Amino acid sequence: MRPEDARYVIIGAGFAGAATACHLAFQGARRVVILEQEAVPGFHSSGRNAGFIRQVLSEPSVGDLAARSAEFIRNPPPGWPVPVSYNAIGSLIVGRGQQWEAVCRDAELARERGLDVECWSPEKTVAAMPLIEGGVLDGAVWCASDGVIDIAALLSGYLKTAQSGGAVIRYGATVTEVRAGEGRVHGVATDQGFVEADVVVNAAGPWAGPVGVMAGAVPIAFHPRRRHLFVTPPLDWVKPDWPFVLNVSDEVYFQPSSGGLMLCPCDEDEVAPGDPPTRPEALELLAERLAAAYPDFPDVPIGRYWAGLRTFTDDNRFVIGWDPGIEGFFWVAGLGGHGVTTSAAVGSLAARVLFGADEDPNFSPARFG
Ligand SMILES: Cc1cc2nc3c(=O)[nH]c(=O)nc-3n(C[C@H](O)[C@H](O)[C@H](O)COP(=O)(O)OP(=O)(O)OC[C@H]3O[C@@H](n4cnc5c(N)ncnc54)[C@H](O)[C@@H]3O)c2cc1C
Repeated sequence: MRPEDARYVIIGAGFAGAATACHLAFQGARRVVILEQEAVPGFHSSGRNAGFIRQVLSEPSVGDLAARSAEFIRNPPPGWPVPVSYNAIGSLIVGRGQQWEAVCRDAELARERGLDVECWSPEKTVAAMPLIEGGVLDGAVWCASDGVIDIAALLSGYLKTAQSGGAVIRYGATVTEVRAGEGRVHGVATDQGFVEADVVVNAAGPWAGPVGVMAGAVPIAFHPRRRHLFVTPPLDWVKPDWPFVLNVSDEVYFQPSSGGLMLCPCDEDEVAPGDPPTRPEALELLAERLAAAYPDFPDVPIGRYWAGLRTFTDDNRFVIGWDPGIEGFFWVAGLGGHGVTTSAAVGSLAARVLFGADEDPNFSPARFG
């Protein structure tokens, strides 16, 4: 069978599933069905994140994907169906001691892949971001091309491109069984009926583990970790062009958002897949970490807050490729905290491997088999 004639079922309409469907359309796949248990796309992690495109990352293989993906996101191909606003406010990754040394190594690797990054002194950093005055830091890595993306528009662009190529999206369709026999997949059962498939793509985010179990695929341990984001009301002293600031020593970040600030305590308690409830302790953690990092940080009111899940594998690398045991079962999962940034490159790699290209061994599911 030619890959363009296969029947594809993609489980999940988050960034993993949507970007894969989009790139399958670019490759000429015709019979693609996306099944999403919720009534809308991006209900889970893909709609609850900070929307920050960050390219200086500690895992080199993920950094490569981030750089390629960011280029696509900033300059989508001609005919892209939804205008996607990108605000290149830049990022400052600040730290001290060993964490600072690690960030400098990440910056060096980013430079080698052609990214324009600079190492700044503490004085230059505080001049650019007065809120962190009083904090103890050895310096900052500045990346001017990082920025904030409109996540709803980006996700919608992937899905609309897939639909233009003929993909069908079914919302409110929960996959309850992946039917496999004689070593290969045959389709999926849903609460809306059976869908035959030659290829089943597991893009189920925090549920990727249970979906893999349904198929009898290689057992991969996934760890969904809850993270909170807090947003202040508009504050007249916040400058909208201030950069994103991540402190890797005290584990806290903030960025301008909707006229105020978005702040994150970088919490990561492991929970079951689902819609995670918020915890008041997260606000206490935010206050503690901000005070430890920047003793003079102003008191800010919190307007709204929410929690979402970041899903990791044991080695923190993504899982993109064919299952080594069940023919036709394909993984696009474990995107952790970088699934927006890397989405275009993840979708492109997944679609190319689905059409016969070699897997990237860094992401191959076979490493768990
Ligand atoms: C607080 C927070 C901040 C973040 N900030 C950033 C950031 O600034 N930049 C960045 O790049 N990344 C960020 N991330 C990470 C990013 O959001 C994720 O990596 C990405 O959204 C993961 O996408 P996904 O498609 O794998 O998962 P999801 O978005 O969870 O999508 C999986 C989908 O599968 C569906 N599904 C599951 N099981 C079934 C089933 N049986 N049947 C049918 N459908 C099913 C689910 O309903 C869901 O919609 C952040 C995450 C969080 C939580």
